[in-house]
Amino acid sequence: MAEILYTVEKTCVMCDKKFTVTKVRNRLSMEKQDSDFCTYYKEANPYYYSIWVCPHCGYAAQDTYFEEPPANMGAVKAFLAGRDVKVNFSGQRTRQEAVTTYKLAIFFADMAGTLPSRQASLYLKLAWLYREGGLPDEEKAMMDQAREHYEKAFLKERMPIGNMSQITLEYLIGELLRRTGRLPEALNYLAKVVGNPQAKNEKRVLEMAREAWTLARDARKERPAAAKSEGEEEQPGT
Ligand SMILES: [Zn+2]
Repeated sequence: MAEILYTVEKTCVMCDKKFTVTKVRNRLSMEKQDSDFCTYYKEANPYYYSIWVCPHCGYAAQDTYFEEPPANMGAVKAFLAGRDVKVNFSGQRTRQEAVTTYKLAIFFADMAGTLPSRQASLYLKLAWLYREGGLPDEEKAMMDQAREHYEKAFLKERMPIGNMSQITLEYLIGELLRRTGRLPEALNYLAKVVGNPQAKNEKRVLEMAREAWTLARDARKERPAAAKSEGEEEQPGT
């Protein structure tokens, strides 16, 4: 483990003090990926280390944008002012510690006016930590939050979002709806992907969308009482 982790010195965007963050080396061997893009690596779980937490003021954010001043920086500074925070998340993290860092990052992201897609990504990764920990209720609650924020992002933000095209985002929303048991809505989103001529350029996502659509349709057949008022049953696209 020691040789996979390393530390870097950073300056906190909120309090201007220096602190060290623990990072994971890039060259990890991927083992598998879930249908909502949760990726598993042999050597370590890099999601444990994605959130940087300043030990001086307590501000926490995703590593990729920790150093950017957020939209509502004043609100966060006002909240942090005068607080004597003693937190230390440097070094190796347990899953529970990692969960705490995501809760902190989600709290600050909301206060800071962070983009819905970025908030969604925090919720999704927290869902993955609960999945790894075998806590399905907590996982589902966080997937619901992730999906709600991705739907906001879908309406408000310009595509692509991070490395996600519109098709990938539609697929992910559909898959999160499926995983949280909202089958009619899932089928709607997934059918949009499957029926989109542009999806041919994104073969892997198209295949995943077809598989998810079939799973959602089959799951709905097993719930006939609920399925009655839920409209069409036709195969989408070709
Ligand atoms: Zn700070």
